[in-house]
Amino acid sequence: MEHIQHYRPTKAIIDLQAIQTNVQNLSKHLHPTVEIIAVVKANAYGHGDVEIAQAAIQAGATILAVATPDEAVHMRNHFPQVNILVLGASPISFVSYASEHNITLAVFSTDWVKQAKEVQAASKPLKLHIKVDSGMGRIGVTSKRQLLELYTTIKKVSNFEVDGLFTHFATADEEDTTYFKKQVSLFRELLQSLPEKPRLVHVANTATALIKDTSLQYDAVRFGISMYGLEPSSFVGTELPFPLAPAFSLETELVFVKELKAGQSVGYGATYTAQEECFVGTLPIGYADGMIRKLSGQTVLVRGERVPIIGRICMDQCMILLPRAYNIGEKVKLIGSQGNDAISIDEWATKCDTINYEVPCIITSRVPRIYTK
Ligand SMILES: *Cc1c(COP(=O)(O)O)cnc(C)c1O
Repeated sequence: MEHIQHYRPTKAIIDLQAIQTNVQNLSKHLHPTVEIIAVVKANAYGHGDVEIAQAAIQAGATILAVATPDEAVHMRNHFPQVNILVLGASPISFVSYASEHNITLAVFSTDWVKQAKEVQAASKPLKLHIKVDSGMGRIGVTSKRQLLELYTTIKKVSNFEVDGLFTHFATADEEDTTYFKKQVSLFRELLQSLPEKPRLVHVANTATALIKDTSLQYDAVRFGISMYGLEPSSFVGTELPFPLAPAFSLETELVFVKELKAGQSVGYGATYTAQEECFVGTLPIGYADGMIRKLSGQTVLVRGERVPIIGRICMDQCMILLPRAYNIGEKVKLIGSQGNDAISIDEWATKCDTINYEVPCIITSRVPRIYTK
């Protein structure tokens, strides 16, 4: 892992102990034979995939799930032994690498299998997890006929293995279970239509693993959002089997403080004008760090006190209204706790009209991730 000197005080602090606590608590909640698939796609939801994967494996996760072939290659370079599953589509050009390096691929097209068979020269088997689309409408086989055609096509290729079968739920985090139940019954029907059960059946995302019937744990669960200490939805938040420990915080320091006279303005468009004398601080973080312009007006913590971002957020900087003339170097918390108060990722999500999943993902790579334990 890299140890680079960072000169700018803007940093994301990632608490690896929180990740491990969340994995361990899930593990206690699951039937003892159920494996935990740590979902580390998208650079571990912006937290840093290598460090998160390491922490999750130490805490008991046995499989890493990524979205893309490139993410799988990156994980394989750091973890030569651990099982890696690609959840999304893989191009035929990735087949040789996958079998050579024991990377399990999602499969949902008979044509894909026929093409893959032509290019696979490796002596090692290619492990495949068949994806069933039980109602997500994204990727997957949607009927018994498609499933059996795909299954038998794979079975005919000597070094291809049907190692798993999985599906993904569209509404597992919602209170209304009507659509969820439809997906469950279609998946069960498709699973039963197979001549034998694949080794690893998995359907549960975080919401399903935390609040649904334990029969849906099958052989493994895919633990994503709550590994990072975040609730899949506010409804799931009301039904949690254990408390979640958030791992992500974001901090910086004041780099400049000035006094504004009444009538003086701040930022592009001069959208904020002081009504009376006040102190304004400048923070070295902007929309190029992922602190998008929609966050204007969001509060940050200075000495445990909430103060607002004023004016438009710039690419690299933004301004906050201060209650007094703090010194340069004063610590500012944008996400996380300071004193007796805390600003959550959910609060940012609400301010941005989005979901908590999106927030750490959009904090760009310019913000270094610093790990604590
Ligand atoms: C991203 C993803 C997950 C993880 O979802 P969470 O809600 O974060 O637990 C699980 N399964 C699939 C197929 C995914 O794409």
